[in-house]
Amino acid sequence: MNLPRPSAAAEWDLSAEEALHRRRVRRMLMAGGGVMVVAALWWGGYFATQGLWLLVASDLVILTSGVTVLALVCRGHLRAASLVILPVLLAVLTLQALLLDVPTAVAPRSVHLYLLPLAVFALVAFRHEKPWLARGAPLLCLALFLVFSATQGHWVAGFQLPDTLRLWGSWINGVLAVSTLFVMLYILQTDASPLTARQIELRKALARGQMVLHYQPQVDATQGVVGAEALVRWRHPTRGLVMPDAFIPLAERTGLILPLGDWVLAEACRQLARWSHDPALAPLVLSVNVSAAQLHQSDFVPRVMATLQAAAVAPERLRLELTESVLVQDLQTIAGKLAELKAHGVTLSLDDFGTGFSSLSYLKRLPLHELKIDKSFVQDLLENGSDATIVESMLTLGRSLGLRVIAEGVETEAQWRYLCDRGCHLFQGYLFSPPLTPDAFEALVHRAGIPQGGAGAPLPQASAG
Ligand code: C2E
Ligand code: MG
Ligand code: MG
Repeated sequence: MNLPRPSAAAEWDLSAEEALHRRRVRRMLMAGGGVMVVAALWWGGYFATQGLWLLVASDLVILTSGVTVLALVCRGHLRAASLVILPVLLAVLTLQALLLDVPTAVAPRSVHLYLLPLAVFALVAFRHEKPWLARGAPLLCLALFLVFSATQGHWVAGFQLPDTLRLWGSWINGVLAVSTLFVMLYILQTDASPLTARQIELRKALARGQMVLHYQPQVDATQGVVGAEALVRWRHPTRGLVMPDAFIPLAERTGLILPLGDWVLAEACRQLARWSHDPALAPLVLSVNVSAAQLHQSDFVPRVMATLQAAAVAPERLRLELTESVLVQDLQTIAGKLAELKAHGVTLSLDDFGTGFSSLSYLKRLPLHELKIDKSFVQDLLENGSDATIVESMLTLGRSLGLRVIAEGVETEAQWRYLCDRGCHLFQGYLFSPPLTPDAFEALVHRAGIPQGGAGAPLPQASAG
């Protein structure tokens, strides 16, 4: 049976859950390995001064295992590290509890306390393993803890440590074991939300330069390229190219859209600066999508201007795309910011027009340059009479307000001809080209030749790419 493919967001949820799990295990192993090293150094050093060489040897085993665990974690071998830490600690703690740390009326047994954090660790680390390990390992730790807590006896006499040493040792073991337990529970609790893992992954992606911009040509009635829309993609190391629908909503919910938006704007301006040296590319206007959170930043306008200035790009080459949802809040302040941007020469486009805000009064109040008919209307244009009527009304509205109107999502020649016949002169869609890498976009414009009089150069062929 063919199961439906999970959506990009669902796939990301799955891998985010996996990333979260690995992060938890990694942090627990680091904490556990660290405690092993510290405890072995402390006790080993002390036993060496007392000439208790058997105990020094046992601490050397713990030290070596602790260092091995840390080294494996650093190389990303979390399963191997977990399979080292569990048997070594189980064996060493059991032997110590049976032979050395034998309770008396004066001093209790304490070394078995480490079995509690070990049980929590085993529960998390072996979650995806076979049931005998996933459930068996934590249950074994807890069962041993119970046995050593409830029994006084020792089965092999002659090795037990003196009570005076075990008395203060029980405090050290108690504090260290309870602290480790606390750290394990803390790691579980702070990582509880899968959102955290996705956020972390996205933040790292930004810092590691995994974001890229692709460029989709915008063409005129002669199919000459007159501009492009910059569309962000995440070049994920294992999942390939991740589309914005899978991460922009999360970026918007978590505020990461601000640094991401800054990067997109800066990269778009750097691209415009590179194009400015090429006669075929220099006249193009680049559209950049802007989210509500970006626009609501009090210093949004100076930020945009500073970015343009840093790249030495003329403001006229940049077009900002806003969606209607951006305009729901505080229209007056937004209108002020947009007017400022317009005064500097930056043009503004209303993206996904027709899909959001019901009142059209904002069209009068905002210094817009362009309306972008949403692809949902274009796609059913020929089959759905009401979509055709809406598109025609949008074209009329644009004309009467003196705005450019561009249709996005044009996929077929029939849609294109229909729109041309109704007076639409600007287009974006797979019929002309999908979004392209910078090199592919530049090659396409070069193949098309140098735009003349701003009309743009015709594309060599109309292809759905
Ligand atoms: P949008 O701004 O409306 O961008 C147009 C989307 O339609 C793009 O999807 C584009 O690849 C797709 N498209 C273009 N032509 C066609 C076509 O002929 N048919 C169909 N079915 N689709 C077509 P993409 O790149 O997946 O972007 C999706 C949305 O993600 C964008 O919608 C925009 O809202 C958001 N986005 C993309 N980049 C950025 C960014 O840098 N910042 C922000 N804030 N949002 C972005
Ligand atoms: Mg857009
Ligand atoms: Mg759109």
